[in-house]
Amino acid sequence: MTDVDGSSRVTSLDATTTRVRAANPSPMTLSGTNTYLIGTPGAGDLLVVDPGPALNDHRATIERAVAQRGGRIATVVVTHHHVDHAEAVGWARDWQVSAFAFDPTRIPGTEEIHDGATVPIDGLEVVVHHQPGHTADHLCLRIPRTGVVLTGDHVLGEGTTVIAWPDGDLGGYLDSLRALRQLEPSALYPGHGEVVTAARPHIDALLAHRAERTEQILAALANGRETVDEIVMDVYPELAAALRPAAARSVNAHLADLRRRDAVACVEGRWRGT
Ligand SMILES: [Zn+2]
Repeated sequence: MTDVDGSSRVTSLDATTTRVRAANPSPMTLSGTNTYLIGTPGAGDLLVVDPGPALNDHRATIERAVAQRGGRIATVVVTHHHVDHAEAVGWARDWQVSAFAFDPTRIPGTEEIHDGATVPIDGLEVVVHHQPGHTADHLCLRIPRTGVVLTGDHVLGEGTTVIAWPDGDLGGYLDSLRALRQLEPSALYPGHGEVVTAARPHIDALLAHRAERTEQILAALANGRETVDEIVMDVYPELAAALRPAAARSVNAHLADLRRRDAVACVEGRWRGT
């Protein structure tokens, strides 16, 4: 891993992939959104994954990193429609290239790309995997030559992603985690945070974490908690107020999954185990 320009915003992760980190840190985006540039070393064409937030300095940093690689942007792919990944997709027009997403109705200006599609970039291939859960339109991208998978917000560099219920879906998320594990990634390059080199244990820990969370929610219901807010306070007693809405979405995602499995019931916003 090499800090390319001394700003610690541009990092060469391996021979094919450069990471450009946007200056939009927050509790939800960790140290900022990661934009990735992918291409064969020495070849001209580069794929941009997640142009990120529409910040002028981020665009300048991306374009400088492209120039430093001696390349040119050839294609843009967006992992999902959230603004911290997709807001800058209009830059593709200025770069005179096409931008692709799973569901163009959610990201105006993109064209549809489907599960299993291959994006050719000058001697390199990137394979698209539809892995819903964080959102319904979420894509991961695998680089067969290195075995690396770009995980967007499906898997982050640290902590657990938010299931953006009702767009996100816990059952889909768990299926997508298992599908990601099946790809046997050599490393995960997330949309936020650092590279995950121990991919398999990381994915297994996320699966275990969700199973544990489900047990905590069932225990809260057994203890007489009924509303989502009550369950959030019970399950996440230490959580900062600013993060409670995200926690509520996650609890709702768990409850929806439990209801589908007939493990809980809801009457007028009050939940109970069955
Ligand atoms: Zn994000």
